[in-house]
Amino acid sequence: MAHSAIVGINWGDEGKGRMVDLLTEEYDVVVRYQGGGNAGHTVVNERGTFALHLLPSGIFRPEVINILGNGVAVDCENLWKEMQEVEKKGVALHPSHFFISERASLVLPWHRDLDALEEARLADQKFGSTKQGIAPFYADKAAKKTILAGELLHPSHLRAHVEQLVEWKNLTLTKVYGAKPTSTEEVLAWLDQYGSPLKPYIGNTAKVLREADRCGKRILFEAQLGALRDLDLGIHPYTTSSNALAAYAPVGSGYPAVKLDNVIGVVKAYSSCVGEGPFTCEWFGEQAETLRKAGGEYGAKTGRPRRVGPIDLVATRYGVQAQGATALALTKLDVLSYLSEIPVVVRYDVDGEETDAFPFPACLDEAKPVEITLPGWKQDISSCRTWASLPQEAKDYVLYLEKTLDCPIRYVSVGPERDAIILR
Ligand code: GDP
Repeated sequence: MAHSAIVGINWGDEGKGRMVDLLTEEYDVVVRYQGGGNAGHTVVNERGTFALHLLPSGIFRPEVINILGNGVAVDCENLWKEMQEVEKKGVALHPSHFFISERASLVLPWHRDLDALEEARLADQKFGSTKQGIAPFYADKAAKKTILAGELLHPSHLRAHVEQLVEWKNLTLTKVYGAKPTSTEEVLAWLDQYGSPLKPYIGNTAKVLREADRCGKRILFEAQLGALRDLDLGIHPYTTSSNALAAYAPVGSGYPAVKLDNVIGVVKAYSSCVGEGPFTCEWFGEQAETLRKAGGEYGAKTGRPRRVGPIDLVATRYGVQAQGATALALTKLDVLSYLSEIPVVVRYDVDGEETDAFPFPACLDEAKPVEITLPGWKQDISSCRTWASLPQEAKDYVLYLEKTLDCPIRYVSVGPERDAIILR
C-alpha cells in the first residue's frame, strides 16, 4: 500500500495542515514524527477553525488512527489542553484511535524556562524562539536526559529518574542562569496533573504502525515546519532543533523500515517566514503589509506578524531537493489575485555573481534577490475548482513554477476550506 509524507518545502506555514486534513480521506493512519508545539497547523473544516500544535491533523476523521511518534516533543500540559479544546468542539479522541509513542520524550517546564532564559541572555542576538522549550528539549534528548512518555506508566522508576534529572538540571538553572531551582515534588506534581490524563493513550506505536502496514492500511506522515528549518540541511543556526525532512519520517515515527511512496511537498504561492534569520526575498513597508494582510500572515501560535515576500524559487528548489518531493501542493494562489504583476525571485546575486544555487548558510546574508515579474490575473479565483476554470495567467504562473522547480504540481489550493482545491 502507498505511504506518503506531507512536508514543508520552505520556512514552515506553507499550509501543510490544510493538505493533511484534505488527504486524510485517502489514508488510514496519520503520524506526526518530529517537532513539538512550537508551530501550528490551521485547519478549517465544517466543525470550525482549529489551530493544532501537537495533535495530528487526521483527528477530524473519526475512522483515522492518529499517532504522535517517538520523534515528537510531547509537552503534556499543552497536549492535554489542546485535546480538551478540540473535544469541546466535538472532536472525540479515543485511546483506540489516538496514540502517543511510549518512546516520545517529554518536554518539561524547565525546558520552557531555559528557552526564555537563553533568549533573554542573547538579547538582541536572539533566535526568535517561540519559547516552547524546543531547543533545550532536543539538546537534552541528545544528551539522554529526558523522561520518556512510557515512564509515566512506571511511577517508582519515574520518581527516581526525575530526582536524578532535577539534581542535574538545577546546576544549569541556578549556576548558569542564576534562576530559581526546581524540585522533584514540583515536577512530579506537574506530571501528575498533565501527564496522568494522557496515560490511556501511551503505548507501543511502532507495533500499531507495523500492524497497520501489514493489514494494507495507508499511512500519512505529517511534518512540522519546512526544509529550510531542518536541523541538518536548513539555514543553520536559524533552524528548528529537529529534522523536518521526509527522510526522517520512518525514524521519528518508530517504523524505520517503512518505504515512502510519495513525498508531497507543500509550497506557498509566495513566501513567509517567522522569526529571525536570513530571508533573502523579504519585502518591507507597504508592499509587505499588503501581502501580509491579503494572506493573513500572522503566527498560529504567537499571533505575531510573519515576514513576507514573493515566492523564492532558489530556496524553493533547494527545499524540493532536500525533501525529495515527488509532487507539490501549491497553496494560497488566491492570495495573489490582487497583484497586476507578480514578482518572483529566480536567482540570487552573491557578491556581484548571479546564481540559482542556494548558498551555504553563512553566505546568505550576502545574497540579494533577482526578481522577474509574471502577469497577474486580477480576479477572484477562490471559487475555481478545476484547472480549466483558472484564468490563463494563473495557469501560466503555476506552470512556470512547476518547470523551474522540476517537480509536478498536483494540487493547487485557492482557499482555506477543505474543498477549495484543484487537482491536476
Ligand atoms: P501549516 O503550519 O503549514 O499548516 O500552515 P499554517 O496553518 O500556519 O498556515 C496556513 C494558513 O493558510 C491557514 O490559516 C490556512 O487556513 C490558510 N490556507 C491554507 N491554504 C490556503 C489557501 O489556498 N488559500 C487561503 N486563502 N488560505 C489558505
